[in-house]
Amino acid sequence: MNPCRRTGIAVVICAPSGAGKTTLCRRLLQEFPNLVLSVSCTTRPPRQGEVNGRDYEFLSREEFLKKRDAGFFAEWAQVHGNFYGTPLAAARALAADGKDVLFDIDVQGAAQLRRSLPAACLVFLLPPSRAELERRLRARGTESEEDLALRMAAASRETAQAHRFDFRIVNDDLEQAWQELRAVYVASTLSPLLRPRFQAELSAEWGNMATLGPSPHTAPAGSHLAGRRVLPRLFTALDLPDAGTAFALAEKVGMLRSPSGSVGSGLKVGLELFSAAGPEPVRLLVDKGCVVFVDLKFHDIPNTVRRAVKVCCALGAGLLSLHLTGGGAMCRAAVAARDASGASTLLMGVSVLTGMDGAAAEITGRVLALARSAKDRGLDGVICSGREAAAVKHELGDDFLCLCPGIRFAGSAGGDDQARVCTPRDAVAAGADFLVMGRPIIGAADPAAAAAAALLEMETGLGCRDGNRGNSDESNTGRH
Ligand code: ADP
Ligand code: 5GP
Repeated sequence: MNPCRRTGIAVVICAPSGAGKTTLCRRLLQEFPNLVLSVSCTTRPPRQGEVNGRDYEFLSREEFLKKRDAGFFAEWAQVHGNFYGTPLAAARALAADGKDVLFDIDVQGAAQLRRSLPAACLVFLLPPSRAELERRLRARGTESEEDLALRMAAASRETAQAHRFDFRIVNDDLEQAWQELRAVYVASTLSPLLRPRFQAELSAEWGNMATLGPSPHTAPAGSHLAGRRVLPRLFTALDLPDAGTAFALAEKVGMLRSPSGSVGSGLKVGLELFSAAGPEPVRLLVDKGCVVFVDLKFHDIPNTVRRAVKVCCALGAGLLSLHLTGGGAMCRAAVAARDASGASTLLMGVSVLTGMDGAAAEITGRVLALARSAKDRGLDGVICSGREAAAVKHELGDDFLCLCPGIRFAGSAGGDDQARVCTPRDAVAAGADFLVMGRPIIGAADPAAAAAAALLEMETGLGCRDGNRGNSDESNTGRH
């Protein structure tokens, strides 16, 4: 038996309309019977030859919105004036049955699917030129002039997102594009990253393969989407006075995974280590394959922050923090610097520090106000306590990330300078995407065991999230 076949993978293909996605997807589906199409729902009228239930489930606007509001879709988006949505339950059932599932969706949908199906292979198909795209759309003859203009305008916006994908294929010569897509699919079915249990199963069979897999953090550089797919959820804070001590600890806790492989760990470099040893530890840890959260909490005039963000992006920071009270111009300067650098660094805004206490409702109100401003300014997420994570997710949407420090194991003595604390399990169950833990791990007698315990709790928390929050983890981010 080939263990690679036990769980299906998700393949997401995006392209501007007319790039040849339907043509290539049909061929892929024909050649590989184990690959099945996720049939989307749409409010667009059927084109000639399209069959309800095979190409799409064609719905009225009312029917679509009813399903959307009932949490039926893993993601949904408005594309070219029509609604489109991916029913998640059907795709999950297929994947559980060992089928690989192909998602033919737009760029907005791909960004959302990353959350509900983190281990997905994301492919972007490019037309060779604008002129050729327009020629193909006209030759297809299925769109009105108005529709054609809409699709051409959308093409530029969509193509600007191509760098966020794992693979890019230019469909100039159809045969070559087909060979490339075929190769991407076949390679993906063999990737331990895309089949999280693959490595464990191989090891169980052969006993000695545990070290042969790739590091858990081998996402291609420069890709937001792919980077997040394998981003660790737990960051151990290397709050230590020198690089030597920090590296010794990093060896133990820098790249662990939870028992099922679904949650991994990275490292945080904060003020103490950065002040002591400068950027070199970050560079070295990134070179070793660790995902590093550079937590310097920038708060300065826009020009200074812009320049510092540029440096940290070049260092390879996975995440970077800045104070939201630094204002809109400062935040926007940070975003612009990150985007200009082409890096996949996530920019996280500090809201109310977890060391501060007060009336819960008042603090949550302040956190939400700051989180809203962070989202408006284009940051990727907010830093708050686990106690506010549910409110942040509820109000800002699942696509807006939430990072929580102030994590303590249940029953720990407390009495330090953290006030709004939360357990690893509860923070993740509430919707936290990333946790930062310092003293409970680095101060433990066995830091690796403490980090492993946190990862296990987080895995449980993720399970609770599915149960307690129903479809909310998979619902639309409200961005459309
Ligand atoms: P999409 O699903 O991305 O909107 P289609 O697969 O419908 O695009 O392709 C758009 C049109 O372009 C179709 O008429 C198709 O036959 C044609 N086409 C696709 N790929 C190529 C190619 N490499 N060279 C020339 N024509 C192509
Ligand atoms: P078309 O109308 O040409 O079939 O599709 C238009 C666009 O909508 C394509 O980019 C297609 O991939 C996208 N699309 C189809 N189904 C879905 C879906 O379920 N969700 C999202 N977000 N986009 C979809």
